[in-house]
Parts: sequence; C-alpha cells; structure tokens
Amino acid sequence: MNIIKTARRIVIKVGSSTLTHDTGLLNLRRIEQLARVISDFTNMGKEVILVTSGAVAAGVSRLRLDHRPATIEEKQATAAVGQNELMSVYERFFTGYGHTVGQILLTRETFEVPVARENARNTFNTLLRMRCIPIVNENDSVSFEEIAVGDNDTLSAYVAAMVEADALILLSDIDGLYDSDPHRNPDAKLIPVVPVIDEKILSYAGGAGSERGTGGVVTKLHAAQIATDAGIPMFLLNGSDPGILYDLFEGLHVGTYFMSK
Ligand code: GLU
Repeated sequence: MNIIKTARRIVIKVGSSTLTHDTGLLNLRRIEQLARVISDFTNMGKEVILVTSGAVAAGVSRLRLDHRPATIEEKQATAAVGQNELMSVYERFFTGYGHTVGQILLTRETFEVPVARENARNTFNTLLRMRCIPIVNENDSVSFEEIAVGDNDTLSAYVAAMVEADALILLSDIDGLYDSDPHRNPDAKLIPVVPVIDEKILSYAGGAGSERGTGGVVTKLHAAQIATDAGIPMFLLNGSDPGILYDLFEGLHVGTYFMSK
C-alpha cells in the first residue's frame, strides 16, 4: 500500500496557517521547503498540482491590516494584493529549483458549468504536459458567496476529481483526524486510517479553523468525502515540516489516510 510512491498525479493542498507565522507574515522557510519537495516529486516524474491558500493572509500582511478583513469588499481587495505576493514567492522558489509554475484561479462555476470545467481540465492537462506546476487558488477577488466554493479543502477535492488525480494530500496544522479536539482533550486519539466516512467519523468534526485560515475539520471531512467518492485516496497531514511528504512517499504511516471507494 504505497500510494504516493506509485501515484503519478497528485494534488497537494496547503492551508494559510501552514504558510504563515503567528505574526501573519509568510513563513518563507516552510514555503521554500514545500517548493523543494514538490520540485523533487516533479523530478521523479510525478505531476503535482498545488492548491494554496494564503492570498488573504498575504494581503493582510502586505497591507499592514490588524486582522482579517471583515467585509466582502475588503476581503476581495486584500486577496487581490495577497495573491500576487503569494505567487511571486512561489515563482521565486520554484524557479530556484528549476521549475516553472502557472497560476489557475477558480470559482464554483468552473466545476458546475460543463464547458468551463472542460476548459479548466484542458488547461491543467496542457500545463502538466508542458512540465509546469499548476498553482491553484479560489478567485477570491471576484467570487462572492453565491458562486464561491468557499474553502480550499473542498476546492482541492474538486480539482483532484476534475483532473482524475491518483491522490489528494491536505497539509494542515493538525496531525490528522482525531476522535475529539486535541487542543481541548489531551486523551484525543489520532485515527490513522478511515476506511469509510460514516456517521461516527463525521461526528469527530469539531469547530472552525484558525484566525489565519478558514477550514476546520468539517471542511477536511467534506473534502475527504468528495475525493473518496471520486475514487481518490486522501491524506490529512501536518504540514509544519513539508519533509513529511517524503515519509508518505516511503510508505510510513503518517497522518490520516482516507481510503477511496
Ligand atoms: N482562498 C483563501 C485564501 O487564499 C483561503 C481559503 C481557505 O483557506 O480555505 O486566502
């Protein structure tokens, strides 16, 4: 059972809290490590798609705001500034490791309107054929509640299904799925394997995310449902050390593995 070693096409999602320091500023060392591992996986012949959050977080720091914007307009403007900042950092690190990146910004319509979906899929396939690394985020500057996917956990699962990925990996600030909130219950146990997402598993979904991101366990389980329903295994890992991706590659048991249907 060495899914990542044999997987050809992998979607990796990284959350805002993994990409930023407690100060809210970008964690450059971590982003560089992530770029290095993804570049290395690409050098092995894998096709990696990176779904990244952090546009709003990067915009907050660039605009020197005290906290995440409250109104839609401010959030969209902040994302417009931050998305640039984020891409310029990725561009620099990936270029340093000899790789070219392409930005794809999506909204829910991309997945719901057949012609939009087909176009997006073609763009992904073409970028990968050109040996580029697609970097994806929600198009936060134009998407509003009615047309937004809303969180990047779900977005990454939609992307994985659309491009028929062999695996989806969520890098988060938690070690995996626990049977209760590990921040509140010291006896909370990590669940290494989830064969099916049943009522019991769903009951483990606690609250919302941190100040710097949006998704909590709820959105991670939602992503797992979408991915595994599409026949794609999903892994939920702690992204504080992106080297954990090598552990997964070596077949070590890290995080939580959600088996595909
Ligand atoms: N798209 C948002 C951003 O880049 C984040 C959404 C999420 O963290 O789920 O800031």
